[in-house]
Amino acid sequence: MADRPTVAIVGAGFSGLLTALHLVADPEGPRARLIERSGAFGRGAAYATGNPDHLLNVRVANMSAFPDQPDHFTDWLASRGGWSAHGGFVTRGVYGDYLQDLLRKALETAGADRLLLEQDEAVDLKPTPGGWRVKLGLGRDLAVEAVVLAAGVLRPPPPAGASPELLASARYVADPWSGLLPADVGDVLLLGSGLTMADVAIGLAGPQRRVWAISRRGLTPRPHAPVTIRPPIPRPQGSPLDLLRQLRRTAGPSDWREAVDDLRPHVAAVWRGWTPVERRAFLRHLRPWWDVHRHRLSPSVARQIAVAIRARDLMVRAGEVVDLALARDGVEVAWRPRGGQVPRRLKVEAVVNCMGFAGDLAQAADPLLANLTAQGLIRPDPLRLGLDVDDRARPLSVDGGVTRGFYVVGPLTRGAVWEMTSVPDIRLQAAEAAQSILAELPRRAASAA
Ligand SMILES: Cc1cc2nc3c(=O)[nH]c(=O)nc-3n(C[C@H](O)[C@H](O)[C@H](O)COP(=O)(O)OP(=O)(O)OC[C@H]3O[C@@H](n4cnc5c(N)ncnc54)[C@H](O)[C@@H]3O)c2cc1C
Repeated sequence: MADRPTVAIVGAGFSGLLTALHLVADPEGPRARLIERSGAFGRGAAYATGNPDHLLNVRVANMSAFPDQPDHFTDWLASRGGWSAHGGFVTRGVYGDYLQDLLRKALETAGADRLLLEQDEAVDLKPTPGGWRVKLGLGRDLAVEAVVLAAGVLRPPPPAGASPELLASARYVADPWSGLLPADVGDVLLLGSGLTMADVAIGLAGPQRRVWAISRRGLTPRPHAPVTIRPPIPRPQGSPLDLLRQLRRTAGPSDWREAVDDLRPHVAAVWRGWTPVERRAFLRHLRPWWDVHRHRLSPSVARQIAVAIRARDLMVRAGEVVDLALARDGVEVAWRPRGGQVPRRLKVEAVVNCMGFAGDLAQAADPLLANLTAQGLIRPDPLRLGLDVDDRARPLSVDGGVTRGFYVVGPLTRGAVWEMTSVPDIRLQAAEAAQSILAELPRRAASAA
């Protein structure tokens, strides 16, 4: 082993970056090797956008990258010009600049030998007697002592009812942030009506084109509004239905947002306390409502969406898309309104998959996840939300055991805790994963000063 062990971190979005920063902050800790296929280190899918309409959906006061330094992001903003707060929400691009700054400072402080940036795709990971071998897309192999999977979310599968010709054509956009829609595209169908839909719709909907958004219930995220910070509440007890009743009771005399925010510190414990049957019931009946009340839009984005809906530039509908067929000059869509029997038809020029976190590991097309599944090193969690992990976020293998030196950080662990998509949740998990790794790996060899 060299003077200090090396940890390979697959994915340099928020999860991977923060895990790396915690590791290299310890002077005796390991070397961190961040592997990122996109070449944009530290921004990930969320914070790479330069669109001024793409605002954070969490207030700046709650976006510090570090759980023990709540003012870190607001102090950073205060020290720097060139941004404007839209009612407490800055652009996601500015947040990306913050993350880039953290990376730059860590490279300066820790030195290029402690924090290595590898622009490549990790396509396979194999345990070895001394640690792990990471196979990279361009053909190289890296020998490391531990690995962290920080690969983001599972991509949603192609929509049921879509013809193979459509899926292979430029009229179907699988990645809503790919920027693949031509600027002069006509009417567009967005599959889904959540935050991803809002992101895409505000750049598209207008007098020049109509945007349709169809999801099972046609629910859209609710807007943020000023809330009072209230004293912590005790952990709620009972089933999902009990929780709903309690929410309704507390939301009655106050703003519902405060009642939802009160639950936030307890989400993981409540989720863990439910039986598998209760978790399934929550996902089937309450999840769509939870999502739109918990994951809210900044007021200015909510206003833009409301204006587009009023102007009928954005048509949000509840229903199911049953057929998507490529036609000579567009896409023929058949969809069934919720509760209706007779399909309706519409014609658009493109279809964008905005179904967000809807992937199932068993169907993941990603080569790394497919290879890890084939080796039995990972398995889907029982609710098919991501990977099955133990209570320290270590992936469980097909036989239910953990593999030494193997960690996962970020939305792939949602099955264990339910909420692991936003910065306030991930920053804590990244710090804890780094602590576990530091405790597990040998410290820097005493001879290497
Ligand atoms: C559009 C959007 C807006 C959001 N807005 C907010 C917000 O305002 N506030 C908030 O708190 N949260 C927000 N979130 C949620 C949250 O901050 C992000 O989901 C979070 O940044 C997730 O980071 P991540 O590193 O886990 O995943 P990602 O950001 O997806 O990063 C994963 C990285 O891994 C790389 N990768 C994957 N596989 C490989 C591989 N095999 N080899 C090499 N590289 C690989 C990918 O290229 C990617 O860069 C938003 C999320 C999205 C998508």
